[in-house]
Amino acid sequence: MSDCLFCRIARKEIPSKTVFEDADCVAFEDINPQAPHHVLVVPRAHYETLDDVPASETAMFGRMVMVATRIARERGLGESGYRLVLNCRESAGQSVFHIHLHLLGGRSFGWPPG
Ligand code: AMP
Ligand code: ZN
Repeated sequence: MSDCLFCRIARKEIPSKTVFEDADCVAFEDINPQAPHHVLVVPRAHYETLDDVPASETAMFGRMVMVATRIARERGLGESGYRLVLNCRESAGQSVFHIHLHLLGGRSFGWPPG
């Protein structure tokens, strides 16, 4: 989608601190980090919410999780632990309507989440 924030970041029309990219997804530092490590993994394909993703995109989800875990490993987060979060719609706190996986690490996280 032409005016979507994360589509524009993926196309490099808006700058971001990119940490990884391939044909399917890009990963960049969150502009308002909620932990010492806060990276967003975003598919290049535009889907507004988790509910809009067709079953045919199962591989893309696997790819997003693999990218996030690889970044976590590279940053030494594997041993202490980290959190992956995917917010779906307003009640969950989704604010950007292009799906994205949060990788959060570098501190302890509470449960249940806020
Ligand atoms: P969510 O609330 O799950 O939709 O997450 C959206 C995330 O995008 C938030 O953590 C924001 O801080 C982050 N964000 C918004 N604009 C930008 C931007 N221009 N570059 C990087 N991260 C952003
Ligand atoms: Zn988009």
